[in-house]
Amino acid sequence: MVTEVSAINAESLQKAKEILTGGGLVGMPTETVYGLAADARSAQAVQEVFRVKGRPQDNPLIVHVHENFDLSTLVEISQDYVYALLRAFTPGPITLVLKSKNVVAPQVSCGLDSLAVRIPSHAGAQAFLSYVNMPIAAPSANLSKHTSPVTAAHVLQDFSGKIPLILDGGRCSGGIESTVINVMGEVPVILRSGLITKEDVIRVVGKCEYAAENAPIRSPGMKYRHYHPACETAMFPLNELSKATALAASARKEGKRVLYLASEEAQTALFALGEKSVLSLGKTEEEIARNVYYLLHEAEEKCDLLIAIAMEERGALVGVMNRLKKACAP
Ligand code: AMP
Ligand code: MG
Repeated sequence: MVTEVSAINAESLQKAKEILTGGGLVGMPTETVYGLAADARSAQAVQEVFRVKGRPQDNPLIVHVHENFDLSTLVEISQDYVYALLRAFTPGPITLVLKSKNVVAPQVSCGLDSLAVRIPSHAGAQAFLSYVNMPIAAPSANLSKHTSPVTAAHVLQDFSGKIPLILDGGRCSGGIESTVINVMGEVPVILRSGLITKEDVIRVVGKCEYAAENAPIRSPGMKYRHYHPACETAMFPLNELSKATALAASARKEGKRVLYLASEEAQTALFALGEKSVLSLGKTEEEIARNVYYLLHEAEEKCDLLIAIAMEERGALVGVMNRLKKACAP
C-alpha cells in the first residue's frame, strides 16, 4: 500500500470519507497531535487501529466529533458543570470522560462503561469531522510507545505503507495531547494533564482534582512507558547540571553524538558551562508544549544521546513534564 499525504481539500476529504466508510484508517491533524482516525461505530475498523499501532488492548480511544455534533447521542451528561466546561473550552484541547450510551463499538472503550469525547479546534480537523459526519475514534498517530506525531511527516514515518491516506494540516499548534478529565462525578478529575490546566478548570467550575497516582480509575493508557524517541535518553534537574555534563562527556568519549533538550532558562545555564549543543524548548509554557514532541523527533534524527533538563511542574508544564519523564525513562 502506498501512503498518500495530501492537503485538506474537497478531493482528499472525499477520499478520506470513502476510506473510513470501507473500514480503513486515515491520519488526521488536530491542534494537539496527529490522530489515527477510524469509524468509531465499526468494531473491525477500531480493532485495526489497535493492530497497526501495536496498542495494548486495555488502552481506550478518544472519540472525536465536529462542533455541531450532538454529544448527547453518544454520552450521558449528569453534572451541570460539564456544560460550563464545554462552553469554556470546546472546541479545544480537552477530552471529557462520560457515561457511554454504547452507540460506538465497545472496543473503543475497551469494555469500560465510559466514553472519552473530544471536539478539536483545528480547522482542518473540523472540516474533516464535519465532512465525514461520523464519530471518529482516534488515538495519537504513532506506533505504541513512540514519540507522538506533530507533523504529517511524523505520521508517515510510523505508518508509511500501513495506511492509505494522511491529511496534512501543518504542524500542530498545541503540541501535546489533550487534557483528559473524568466529568462523571461531583468534582472533575484530571486523568491526563495537558494544555488546559487544573487552574483553568477551577476558574470555570470552582473545583478540580488530579487523579491520585495509584488510583484505580486513572486513564488506563497512562500506565504505559510512552513517547520514547529512537535514541538514548536521560534527564537531570536544573540543579544537577554537573551530572548532566559528566554523562555528556563520557558519552562523547564513546563517540556518541549528544544533544541537550532544555528550556531557555536551562539553555543559558548550559551555555555558561560551555555546552552549546542544545535543542531549545523556548520560554513560555505554550512554546515549550508546542516544541516538546517536535524536538524529540528532531533529536532521534540528530543524536545518539538526548539529555533533557527537567522543568518546574506548573500550569501546562505539568503535562509537558509528564510526557518528558516517560520519554526519558531509562
Ligand atoms: P491517545 O489517544 O494515545 O492520546 O490516548 C488516549 C488517552 O485517553 C489514554 O490515556 C486513555 O487511557 C484515555 N481514555 C480514553 N478513553 C477513556 C475512558 N473511557 N476512561 C478513561 N480514560 C480514557
Ligand atoms: Mg498516544
